[in-house]
Amino acid sequence: MSETHETVKAFSNEVEATLARSRLAQEGIDGTVHRFSRYRALAGGGYVLKVTAADLSRALALLDELDTGIDMDEYVDADDTSYRRCPACRSVNVDTRPLGGWQRLLAVVSLGLFLWCIKRDCHCAKCGARWRA
Ligand SMILES: [Zn+2]
Repeated sequence: MSETHETVKAFSNEVEATLARSRLAQEGIDGTVHRFSRYRALAGGGYVLKVTAADLSRALALLDELDTGIDMDEYVDADDTSYRRCPACRSVNVDTRPLGGWQRLLAVVSLGLFLWCIKRDCHCAKCGARWRA
């Protein structure tokens, strides 16, 4: 008999989802990270952390407690160019505004090519800078 798994939280990248899963594991909660399609992942929120229904309320409480933010700058090498960086402070703690409904649909229909054509609003969680990239 398989247990029901519930989504605890959605993440825009796999690293943050995996770090959150590790934090839950430290408290004895087994979680799994699931990725939606590559295109939905690129559009934001494509990685979800799931736990058993029995662990859901405890996992939500733990992540709320820990939601002071995972400082990605501690984990990403300063020379790593694969992450989007804040133009002001070079932090990788950058949030990209999720795509709206029609933009997400267009991204899926165009197999992600649409994502190369649009500029997205970004926000630095460290210094508060906002820009369009
Ligand atoms: Zn910044």
